[in-house]
Amino acid sequence: MRLLVVEDDPDLNRQLTAALTDAGYVVDRAFDGEEGHHLGDTEPYDAVILDIGLPKMDGISVLESWRRNGRTMPVLMLTARDRWSDKVQGFDAGADDYVAKPFHLEEVLARLRALLRRAVGHAKSEFECGPVRLDSRTGRVTVNGNPVKLTSHEYRLLAYLMHHNGRVVSRTELVEHLYDQDFDRDSNTIEVFVGRIRKKLGVDIIQTVRGLGYMLAPPG
Ligand code: CA
Repeated sequence: MRLLVVEDDPDLNRQLTAALTDAGYVVDRAFDGEEGHHLGDTEPYDAVILDIGLPKMDGISVLESWRRNGRTMPVLMLTARDRWSDKVQGFDAGADDYVAKPFHLEEVLARLRALLRRAVGHAKSEFECGPVRLDSRTGRVTVNGNPVKLTSHEYRLLAYLMHHNGRVVSRTELVEHLYDQDFDRDSNTIEVFVGRIRKKLGVDIIQTVRGLGYMLAPPG
């Protein structure tokens, strides 16, 4: 899952990025409203953390413009605790949730997980396909109850497919959602990761749909 953090406070931006990266997300960052607006308008993010008080272009205007342009990714806004009017404006502009500063990083992570799940119509933090279970809260993957150890890249790929279970996901989409903007985007690496995941799971739930991409399906 690829996220965008738009926060002008360098320390806070760094803390958020570090926590999100640790949690297995790919994170792009912006430090002002214009840069954030441009990235959110042009890159396919799974969710955005957007500060309301930003230089160059405020968070409300950024969000309004995204929504006007048809960008529907979930947005978690960061507001000052005493500014209730920010929250009202933010929701009216199209925010999905908010966290007031100062916040606990755990709360941001929990709210993000909920937004990401809801965006794909899934109410629980656990995903299943046949004997494979993936817990997006703990990052645990099991096959028939036995834990499987995946690298962070492998986990992200499987988690993305699990979040989009029921439809074909193209290699391009995977590349766009699994790597940050600086990554050398070679879609052959996706095939390599898929091969490794299949091997580690020992059950074939990732079907190759020729010419289109991948789709999850229970084995057999
Ligand atoms: Ca700020």
